[in-house]
Amino acid sequence: MDLLIKETAKLLKESDFTIAFTGAGISVESGVPPFRGEHGLWNKYNPEVLDLGYYLENAEECWVYIREIFYDFFADAKPNPAHLVLAKMEEAGLLQAVVTQNIDNLHYEAGNKEVYEFHGNSKKLKCLKCGSVYDVNEVDLESLPPLCKKDSEILKPDFIFFGEGIPHEAYSNSFAAAERAKVCLIIGSTGEVTPASYVPRTAKQSGATIIEINPEESMFTSQITDIHLKGKASEILTKLASELF
Ligand code: NAD
Repeated sequence: MDLLIKETAKLLKESDFTIAFTGAGISVESGVPPFRGEHGLWNKYNPEVLDLGYYLENAEECWVYIREIFYDFFADAKPNPAHLVLAKMEEAGLLQAVVTQNIDNLHYEAGNKEVYEFHGNSKKLKCLKCGSVYDVNEVDLESLPPLCKKDSEILKPDFIFFGEGIPHEAYSNSFAAAERAKVCLIIGSTGEVTPASYVPRTAKQSGATIIEINPEESMFTSQITDIHLKGKASEILTKLASELF
Protein backbone atom coordinates (compact mmCIF):
# COMPACT_ATOMS: atom_id res chain seq x y z
CA MET A 1 0.00 0.00 0.00
CA ASP A 2 2.78 2.46 0.91
CA LEU A 3 4.30 2.04 -2.55
CA LEU A 4 0.93 2.72 -4.19
CA ILE A 5 0.49 5.86 -2.07
CA LYS A 6 3.96 7.08 -3.14
CA GLU A 7 3.17 6.32 -6.79
CA THR A 8 -0.14 8.21 -6.50
CA ALA A 9 1.58 11.22 -4.89
CA LYS A 10 4.07 11.30 -7.77
CA LEU A 11 1.27 11.21 -10.36
CA LEU A 12 -0.55 14.02 -8.55
CA LYS A 13 2.57 16.19 -8.42
CA GLU A 14 3.19 15.67 -12.14
CA SER A 15 -0.42 16.27 -13.21
CA ASP A 16 -1.43 19.76 -14.32
CA PHE A 17 -5.15 18.98 -14.15
CA THR A 18 -6.57 16.68 -11.49
CA ILE A 19 -10.19 16.13 -10.57
CA ALA A 20 -11.80 14.29 -7.67
CA PHE A 21 -15.09 12.52 -8.27
CA THR A 22 -16.73 11.88 -4.91
CA GLY A 23 -19.66 9.79 -3.72
CA ALA A 24 -21.49 9.10 -0.50
CA GLY A 25 -18.48 7.13 0.85
CA ILE A 26 -16.38 10.25 1.48
CA SER A 27 -19.01 11.53 3.92
CA VAL A 28 -19.56 8.27 5.80
CA GLU A 29 -16.86 9.26 8.33
CA SER A 30 -18.73 12.55 8.86
CA GLY A 31 -21.69 10.48 10.03
CA VAL A 32 -23.73 10.72 6.81
CA PRO A 33 -24.81 7.20 5.81
CA PRO A 34 -24.73 6.08 2.16
CA PHE A 35 -27.91 5.08 0.33
CA ARG A 36 -26.87 1.55 -0.47
CA GLY A 37 -25.17 -1.30 1.42
CA GLU A 38 -25.60 -2.74 4.90
CA HIS A 39 -26.11 0.58 6.73
CA GLY A 40 -27.62 2.35 3.72
CA LEU A 41 -30.57 4.72 4.04
CA TRP A 42 -32.72 2.66 1.70
CA ASN A 43 -32.82 -0.15 4.27
CA LYS A 44 -34.80 2.20 6.50
CA TYR A 45 -36.66 4.56 4.15
CA ASN A 46 -38.76 4.14 1.04
CA PRO A 47 -36.92 5.82 -1.88
CA GLU A 48 -40.37 6.83 -3.21
CA VAL A 49 -40.27 9.97 -0.99
CA LEU A 50 -37.55 11.25 -3.33
CA ASP A 51 -39.38 10.34 -6.54
CA LEU A 52 -40.40 13.58 -8.24
CA GLY A 53 -43.76 12.27 -9.49
CA TYR A 54 -44.71 10.89 -6.07
CA TYR A 55 -43.41 14.00 -4.29
CA LEU A 56 -45.44 16.39 -6.46
CA GLU A 57 -48.62 14.50 -5.51
CA ASN A 58 -47.71 13.92 -1.84
CA ALA A 59 -45.33 16.74 -0.83
CA GLU A 60 -46.67 17.09 2.72
CA GLU A 61 -46.22 13.38 3.52
CA CYS A 62 -42.79 13.28 1.84
CA TRP A 63 -41.56 16.30 3.80
CA VAL A 64 -41.91 14.42 7.11
CA TYR A 65 -39.30 11.89 5.92
CA ILE A 66 -37.20 14.43 4.01
CA ARG A 67 -36.82 16.53 7.18
CA GLU A 68 -35.87 13.47 9.21
CA ILE A 69 -33.31 12.21 6.69
CA PHE A 70 -31.69 15.43 5.49
CA TYR A 71 -32.33 18.07 8.14
CA ASP A 72 -32.42 16.18 11.47
CA PHE A 73 -29.83 13.41 11.05
CA PHE A 74 -27.26 15.30 8.99
CA ALA A 75 -27.65 18.77 10.39
CA ASP A 76 -24.46 18.57 12.46
CA ALA A 77 -22.25 16.71 9.96
CA LYS A 78 -18.85 18.35 9.60
CA PRO A 79 -16.11 17.83 6.99
CA ASN A 80 -13.81 14.94 7.92
CA PRO A 81 -10.04 14.66 7.20
CA ALA A 82 -10.75 13.38 3.66
CA HIS A 83 -12.70 16.54 2.74
CA LEU A 84 -9.99 18.68 4.37
CA VAL A 85 -7.16 17.05 2.39
CA LEU A 86 -9.03 17.77 -0.87
CA ALA A 87 -9.39 21.41 0.16
CA LYS A 88 -5.67 21.63 0.96
CA MET A 89 -4.85 20.04 -2.40
CA GLU A 90 -6.93 22.64 -4.24
CA GLU A 91 -5.26 25.45 -2.33
CA ALA A 92 -1.84 24.03 -3.22
CA GLY A 93 -2.73 23.78 -6.93
CA LEU A 94 -2.79 19.97 -6.82
CA LEU A 95 -6.53 19.65 -7.47
CA GLN A 96 -8.44 21.65 -10.06
CA ALA A 97 -12.05 20.56 -9.42
CA VAL A 98 -14.27 18.37 -7.27
CA VAL A 99 -17.20 16.73 -9.03
CA THR A 100 -19.49 15.45 -6.31
CA GLN A 101 -22.60 13.33 -6.26
CA ASN A 102 -23.09 14.40 -2.66
CA ILE A 103 -25.66 16.94 -1.62
CA ASP A 104 -24.31 17.57 1.88
CA ASN A 105 -22.31 20.77 1.20
CA LEU A 106 -19.27 19.32 3.00
CA HIS A 107 -16.76 20.06 0.21
CA TYR A 108 -17.65 23.77 0.38
CA GLU A 109 -17.51 23.67 4.19
CA ALA A 110 -14.05 22.11 3.98
CA GLY A 111 -12.86 25.02 1.83
CA ASN A 112 -12.95 23.73 -1.76
CA LYS A 113 -14.06 26.43 -4.19
CA GLU A 114 -14.26 24.65 -7.53
CA VAL A 115 -17.06 22.21 -6.69
CA TYR A 116 -19.55 20.90 -9.23
CA GLU A 117 -22.57 19.52 -7.41
CA PHE A 118 -23.93 17.00 -9.88
CA HIS A 119 -27.03 16.26 -7.81
CA GLY A 120 -27.59 19.67 -6.22
CA ASN A 121 -27.36 20.74 -2.57
CA SER A 122 -29.60 19.92 0.38
CA LYS A 123 -28.75 23.15 2.21
CA LYS A 124 -30.85 25.13 -0.25
CA LEU A 125 -34.60 24.97 -0.82
CA LYS A 126 -36.28 26.07 -4.04
CA CYS A 127 -39.76 27.24 -5.02
CA LEU A 128 -40.73 25.27 -8.11
CA LYS A 129 -43.21 28.02 -9.11
CA CYS A 130 -41.26 31.31 -8.87
CA GLY A 131 -37.71 29.89 -8.72
CA SER A 132 -36.79 31.62 -5.42
CA VAL A 133 -33.95 29.85 -3.60
CA TYR A 134 -33.59 29.94 0.20
CA ASP A 135 -30.78 28.92 2.49
CA VAL A 136 -32.10 26.22 4.82
CA ASN A 137 -31.34 28.47 7.82
CA GLU A 138 -33.82 31.05 6.54
CA VAL A 139 -36.65 28.52 6.45
CA ASP A 140 -38.84 27.33 9.30
CA LEU A 141 -38.74 23.54 9.23
CA GLU A 142 -40.65 23.23 12.51
CA SER A 143 -43.96 23.53 10.71
CA LEU A 144 -44.18 21.42 7.59
CA PRO A 145 -44.27 21.76 4.67
CA PRO A 146 -41.98 24.80 4.27
CA LEU A 147 -43.55 27.53 2.13
CA CYS A 148 -42.15 30.15 -0.25
CA LYS A 149 -42.29 33.63 1.28
CA LYS A 150 -43.36 35.12 -2.06
CA ASP A 151 -46.12 32.84 -3.30
CA SER A 152 -46.74 30.35 -0.46
CA GLU A 153 -45.92 27.39 -2.70
CA ILE A 154 -44.32 24.34 -1.05
CA LEU A 155 -40.51 24.53 -1.20
CA LYS A 156 -38.52 21.58 -2.52
CA PRO A 157 -34.94 20.71 -1.45
CA ASP A 158 -32.59 21.93 -4.17
CA PHE A 159 -31.12 18.50 -4.87
CA ILE A 160 -32.39 16.33 -7.64
CA PHE A 161 -35.07 13.75 -7.02
CA PHE A 162 -35.43 10.53 -9.00
CA GLY A 163 -36.87 11.57 -12.34
CA GLU A 164 -35.21 15.02 -12.43
CA GLY A 165 -32.45 16.21 -14.77
CA ILE A 166 -28.91 17.11 -13.72
CA PRO A 167 -28.36 20.87 -13.09
CA HIS A 168 -27.11 22.21 -16.43
CA GLU A 169 -24.03 24.12 -15.26
CA ALA A 170 -22.76 21.34 -12.97
CA TYR A 171 -23.22 18.85 -15.81
CA SER A 172 -21.28 20.83 -18.39
CA ASN A 173 -18.53 21.88 -15.97
CA SER A 174 -18.08 18.27 -14.81
CA PHE A 175 -17.66 16.81 -18.27
CA ALA A 176 -15.42 19.67 -19.42
CA ALA A 177 -13.18 19.01 -16.40
CA ALA A 178 -13.23 15.24 -17.05
CA GLU A 179 -12.06 15.79 -20.62
CA ARG A 180 -9.09 17.85 -19.40
CA ALA A 181 -8.09 15.59 -16.51
CA LYS A 182 -4.67 13.94 -16.38
CA VAL A 183 -5.54 12.28 -13.06
CA CYS A 184 -9.02 11.45 -11.74
CA LEU A 185 -9.51 10.39 -8.12
CA ILE A 186 -12.70 8.41 -7.51
CA ILE A 187 -13.54 8.48 -3.81
CA GLY A 188 -16.33 6.46 -2.18
CA SER A 189 -18.65 5.77 -5.07
CA THR A 190 -20.30 2.53 -6.18
CA GLY A 191 -20.51 3.84 -9.75
CA GLU A 192 -24.09 2.65 -9.94
CA VAL A 193 -25.67 6.06 -10.50
CA THR A 194 -25.81 7.38 -14.06
CA PRO A 195 -25.12 9.79 -15.68
CA ALA A 196 -22.74 10.74 -12.83
CA SER A 197 -20.67 7.58 -13.33
CA TYR A 198 -19.89 8.72 -16.90
CA VAL A 199 -17.73 11.54 -15.49
CA PRO A 200 -14.75 9.32 -14.48
CA ARG A 201 -15.38 7.14 -17.53
CA THR A 202 -15.02 10.25 -19.70
CA ALA A 203 -11.79 11.13 -17.89
CA LYS A 204 -10.44 7.64 -18.58
CA GLN A 205 -11.38 7.88 -22.28
CA SER A 206 -9.62 11.24 -22.42
CA GLY A 207 -6.40 9.65 -21.15
CA ALA A 208 -6.55 10.28 -17.40
CA THR A 209 -5.03 7.90 -14.86
CA ILE A 210 -7.80 6.68 -12.57
CA ILE A 211 -7.07 6.32 -8.86
CA GLU A 212 -9.83 4.86 -6.75
CA ILE A 213 -10.17 5.17 -2.96
CA ASN A 214 -12.74 2.79 -1.51
CA PRO A 215 -12.60 -0.02 1.08
CA GLU A 216 -14.62 -2.16 -1.33
CA GLU A 217 -14.61 -2.81 -5.06
CA SER A 218 -17.01 -0.74 -7.14
CA MET A 219 -18.33 -0.92 -10.67
CA PHE A 220 -15.32 1.17 -11.69
CA THR A 221 -12.65 -1.08 -10.15
CA SER A 222 -12.29 -3.78 -12.77
CA GLN A 223 -13.31 -1.53 -15.67
CA ILE A 224 -11.39 1.75 -15.48
CA THR A 225 -9.36 1.91 -12.25
CA ASP A 226 -5.57 2.00 -12.63
CA ILE A 227 -4.67 2.16 -8.94
CA HIS A 228 -7.05 0.99 -6.21
CA LEU A 229 -6.13 2.41 -2.80
CA LYS A 230 -8.20 0.07 -0.69
CA GLY A 231 -9.30 1.74 2.54
CA LYS A 232 -11.36 4.46 4.12
CA ALA A 233 -11.20 7.88 2.49
CA SER A 234 -9.84 9.74 5.54
CA GLU A 235 -7.17 7.13 6.24
CA ILE A 236 -5.90 6.97 2.63
CA LEU A 237 -6.07 10.72 1.99
CA THR A 238 -4.25 11.48 5.24
CA LYS A 239 -1.42 9.14 4.16
CA LEU A 240 -1.41 10.74 0.72
CA ALA A 241 -1.25 14.22 2.28
CA SER A 242 1.89 13.26 4.20
CA GLU A 243 3.56 12.50 0.84
CA LEU A 244 2.23 15.66 -0.82
CA PHE A 245 2.84 18.38 1.76
P1 NAD B 1 -23.37 4.76 -2.59
O1 NAD B 1 -24.19 5.05 -1.39
O2 NAD B 1 -24.01 4.01 -3.68
O3 NAD B 1 -22.02 3.96 -2.20
C1 NAD B 1 -21.11 4.40 -1.28
C2 NAD B 1 -19.71 3.91 -1.63
O4 NAD B 1 -18.81 4.39 -0.65
C3 NAD B 1 -19.55 2.37 -1.63
O5 NAD B 1 -18.79 1.98 -2.76
C4 NAD B 1 -18.76 2.08 -0.34
O6 NAD B 1 -17.91 0.94 -0.45
C5 NAD B 1 -17.95 3.35 -0.22
N1 NAD B 1 -17.54 3.68 1.16
C6 NAD B 1 -18.14 3.40 2.33
N2 NAD B 1 -17.46 3.91 3.37
C7 NAD B 1 -16.38 4.55 2.84
C8 NAD B 1 -15.29 5.27 3.39
N3 NAD B 1 -15.18 5.47 4.73
N4 NAD B 1 -14.37 5.78 2.55
C9 NAD B 1 -14.46 5.59 1.21
N5 NAD B 1 -15.48 4.92 0.63
C10 NAD B 1 -16.42 4.40 1.43
O7 NAD B 1 -22.80 6.12 -3.08
P2 NAD B 1 -22.79 6.84 -4.46
O8 NAD B 1 -22.11 5.99 -5.49
O9 NAD B 1 -22.30 8.19 -4.18
O10 NAD B 1 -24.31 6.96 -4.93
C11 NAD B 1 -25.35 7.28 -4.08
C12 NAD B 1 -26.18 8.47 -4.47
O11 NAD B 1 -26.75 8.89 -3.25
C13 NAD B 1 -25.46 9.64 -5.00
O12 NAD B 1 -26.07 9.97 -6.16
C14 NAD B 1 -25.65 10.78 -3.97
O13 NAD B 1 -26.32 11.86 -4.58
C15 NAD B 1 -26.58 10.25 -2.96
N6 NAD B 1 -26.17 10.34 -1.55
C16 NAD B 1 -25.50 11.42 -1.08
C17 NAD B 1 -25.12 11.48 0.25
C18 NAD B 1 -24.39 12.68 0.74
O14 NAD B 1 -24.65 13.79 0.28
N7 NAD B 1 -23.43 12.52 1.66
C19 NAD B 1 -25.42 10.43 1.12
C20 NAD B 1 -26.14 9.34 0.61
C21 NAD B 1 -26.49 9.31 -0.73
